[in-house]
Amino acid sequence: MTEPARMVRLVGDAEYRDQAEASLSTPGDASMVFRSRPRSIVMACPDGCGETLVINLDSRADKAWRFDMRGEGLTLFPSVWREGGCESHFIVWRGHILWCDRFEGGNREPPYNPEIEAAVLSAMDEVQPRNAVELADAIEELVWDVSRVANRLVGRGLARSWKINGGWVFVRVV
Ligand SMILES: [Zn+2]
Repeated sequence: MTEPARMVRLVGDAEYRDQAEASLSTPGDASMVFRSRPRSIVMACPDGCGETLVINLDSRADKAWRFDMRGEGLTLFPSVWREGGCESHFIVWRGHILWCDRFEGGNREPPYNPEIEAAVLSAMDEVQPRNAVELADAIEELVWDVSRVANRLVGRGLARSWKINGGWVFVRVV
């Protein structure tokens, strides 16, 4: 197998899924299906297997991913995990594709932004643990950015983290 895609290339919106699919040419290409509101992201599987992934964005329809277009490109939360077929599992973060299992050796994260450290720290409580989604919502930043910053703050002794129900939570160190 050749190298997988490391970036998402947005090829423009479409009104229907088949239109979106027809506009994809290489692994990592993605098109948003938009009909009065965002419905889904249709993506050529970035591992190059040739399959098309449909990522639901419409919380009225089904389990939906959060999406954001700020910065250098598309961000999706949570990670995208294909349970059948090629089993691709990856994070889409500011246009970057970060592989969660195979291929992860070549991962390249978006640039670190220290400017949100103070905001993340102030969104943390000294007693009540909060997860990265709660912190991100409080300061309107991306969950992936907040999660990375929170872990760096833990590394510097400014915050503490532990796992609750399989997810990480954070408190500010007094
Ligand atoms: Zn695939």
